[in-house]
Amino acid sequence: MKKVVKFGGSSLANAKQFKKVADIIKADKSRRYVVPSAPGKRNDKDEKVTDMLYACYDAVAEGRSYKKILDKIKERYNEIIDGLDLNLNLDHEFDKIEENFLAKAGRDYAASRGEYLNGIVMANYLGYEFIDAAEVIFFDDNGNFEADITDKELSERLSHVERAVVPGFYGSRPDGSIKTFSRGGSDITGSLVAKAINADLYENWTDVSGFFACDPRIVSSPRCIDELSYQELRELSYMGANVLHEDSIFPVRQAGIPIHI
Ligand code: ADP
Ligand code: ASP
Ligand code: MG
Repeated sequence: MKKVVKFGGSSLANAKQFKKVADIIKADKSRRYVVPSAPGKRNDKDEKVTDMLYACYDAVAEGRSYKKILDKIKERYNEIIDGLDLNLNLDHEFDKIEENFLAKAGRDYAASRGEYLNGIVMANYLGYEFIDAAEVIFFDDNGNFEADITDKELSERLSHVERAVVPGFYGSRPDGSIKTFSRGGSDITGSLVAKAINADLYENWTDVSGFFACDPRIVSSPRCIDELSYQELRELSYMGANVLHEDSIFPVRQAGIPIHI
């Protein structure tokens, strides 16, 4: 039995959440491939790391001061690393990121570092192998997703790895530059990994316990929908039931892999 588990931003917002996530993963040995998002909001007033990265990059690109926001991003990760008692230091990674920001590596590169760094932290915490999504998820020169090449490379790579963390949300173009999916795109990475390893199940863990009949931010305590077809899910996601990215349904649907939310 092989399961792919994707965890969203609020599920990985701080060390306490990481511990919960690790308990969930360790509770079932078939949860072998993990796709994390970047750290999300710790509370209503908090900022998502992805948004902080965009803001930081924009400041660099426009020649404004960016050190404060970069420090705030570093603090988010260091708080998680310290809270988990990890023997891990991201200083070198942050130096490289700053250098690449100054060299105008692009907004997609900037945003992708949220998942990249969270993947490194998660792999270290779980003792799983880290696989950079840039090496296994591909776009063409125009930024169109390359489904076939990705599936081939991803299955080949993962066939040799018992347990791995693959950060969500991004991949690379032929010139090596980073391209992201649209916002919420870690769901797509989870689905691609599930298809590539021919998973028995794609588990999408988030801050709600299932797919509801209405958006719980609008209607309180809506009924949970026990089962949906891929087509119904795709239509509802497309119409704004944004618990799952609409483009994450196609890869698992093709392979007939069920999604649990
Ligand atoms: P993640 O960060 O885990 O990817 P998202 O914020 O993208 O999580 O998606 C989960 C959110 O989707 C929930 O917190 C909920 O507010 C919202 N949502 C919208 N429509 C629905 C629905 N029909 N059922 C469940 N959640 C929904
Ligand atoms: N971190 C990205 C976002 O905020 C991708 C994701 O969370 O799925 O959109
Ligand atoms: Mg999401």
